Amino acid sequence: MADLTDAELDQLIKDIGLKRPRGGSQRKPIAHGTYKGAKQHRYRGEPVCDDCRQGERDYRDKLRHGQSGYLTEEEWQARQAARNGGAR
Ligand SMILES: [Zn+2]
Repeated sequence: MADLTDAELDQLIKDIGLKRPRGGSQRKPIAHGTYKGAKQHRYRGEPVCDDCRQGERDYRDKLRHGQSGYLTEEEWQARQAARNGGAR
């Protein structure tokens, strides 16, 4: 029986993955310029393109500022300060 190390196992899985035929048309097109697109790039082991990187940044900003709308930088700072102060 073969006694594989973890590294050899990883290599084996990698080899099998590389040999697997591509899905071709079954693959969904990447939604470039969005957070979702960035995830799709990562899922495929590709570098995230500039458009998607920007989309992801916008998405993160939106989350950080809340769904209700954008805060100005000053409002954001004030909110952070209030939160930090209130915790004590
Ligand atoms: Zn992209």
